[in-house]
Amino acid sequence: MGKRHKVVHIRCRRCGRRAYHAQRGVCAACGYGRDTRINRYRWKTKTVQRLRLR
Ligand SMILES: [Zn+2]
Repeated sequence: MGKRHKVVHIRCRRCGRRAYHAQRGVCAACGYGRDTRINRYRWKTKTVQRLRLR
């Protein structure tokens, strides 16, 4: 009955995606808050700035 009301992910200030977990303080896409470097994976290309890494 409309349970998805909480804002879980807010805009990440590093990768710009709406993947930053507001409560945990970790970005799901680039790993901001957990990782110093932006993590990029082949299977995550869509996530980080929507770039294709080829
Ligand atoms: Zn991010």
